[in-house]
Amino acid sequence: MRDLHARRIVVKIGTNTICREDGTVDQAYIDDVARQVVELQGRGIEAMVVTSGAIGSGSSELGLDGKNKDVAMKQACAAVGQATLMLAWRESFHRYGKSVGQVLLTYGAFSDRARYLDLRKAIDEMFRLGVVPVVNENDVISTDEIDEIFGDNDKLSALVASKMDADLLILLTDVEGLYDRNPEADRDAKLIPTVDEVTKDIERIAGTRKNERSTGGMRTKINAAKIAMQSGCNMIIANGRTPNVIERVAAGEEIGTLFTARSHYTNRERWILFACPRGKITVDEGAENALHAGRSLLPCGIVSAEGRFKKGDVVRINTLGKGIVNYSTAELQALIQKCQEDRAAGRNGNGTTVINHENVVFHD
Ligand code: GLU
Repeated sequence: MRDLHARRIVVKIGTNTICREDGTVDQAYIDDVARQVVELQGRGIEAMVVTSGAIGSGSSELGLDGKNKDVAMKQACAAVGQATLMLAWRESFHRYGKSVGQVLLTYGAFSDRARYLDLRKAIDEMFRLGVVPVVNENDVISTDEIDEIFGDNDKLSALVASKMDADLLILLTDVEGLYDRNPEADRDAKLIPTVDEVTKDIERIAGTRKNERSTGGMRTKINAAKIAMQSGCNMIIANGRTPNVIERVAAGEEIGTLFTARSHYTNRERWILFACPRGKITVDEGAENALHAGRSLLPCGIVSAEGRFKKGDVVRINTLGKGIVNYSTAELQALIQKCQEDRAAGRNGNGTTVINHENVVFHD
């Protein structure tokens, strides 16, 4: 048995698990998930659902399965399918006297601190009222152009788990877990029961496995695992069709692959680290060393600033990590230029702080 002791659980269900072969939503399956979630709640565990299947079921309803779809068509499918999906969840949870609350998210909702705090309050309130939050990406308005897209619900569910301080994330999919080799190609492939660290080897064996209706595969699940682990949240990949899988996994039964939690980031640090960056600041080696030594970022260590950010936004810093910037792009570019002029004239131009050291978070 695994020692999980989860008090707050996020259950994510993939498109291939929730939809039948023909793309329609499998109501009996949703009933079964609802039964298990209600059972957990009866034991004082707060559980929420991240559901995929909007694009898949919309596509099937509109007779567009198998057709090449551009972004607008996928968004239209999501608009149709999301309604179908929520009705299905509502019907199933109503059987157990529970209401569901629809939560549609874009990456941007996590990147603005005020919006994120409001979201957290709303979900906490749902738990207080005994409502089951049912989350999906707001595919209709999520757009790549403004970096507001999660793209896959694996990452979305890991970020939800992180932001909501969940201690267990269960990814229900159509395979048993992570194998040491491709189980479709190699009959000797073995299931890996536990991953304590996502090494290059783990990333390599995750490979890519894609399917027409869903976005994810093992690779997106491994990326989700990194976020969950860094957030102090255990994550389990398991076959969603295993009988009573949610209850059994939550009880510690050794099913699927467990990615063990190993948090060293505070909630605020996680917010910075997982926020959608509004731009990128490239710094020189001296500034990189200064940041690592716990000092703040000054204008003269900056080589360039790209993107469209304002004061208080999160930006990427080289490949080191992220930070909250004290200036807008235009202000910062002016500061960098002034620094270069000062330097050319033999003056010291560092008079202000661009990113305070307590607002910098490094990747692992
Ligand atoms: N948000 C998408 C949907 O509901 C699913 C994305 C995914 O497959 O991860 O259709």
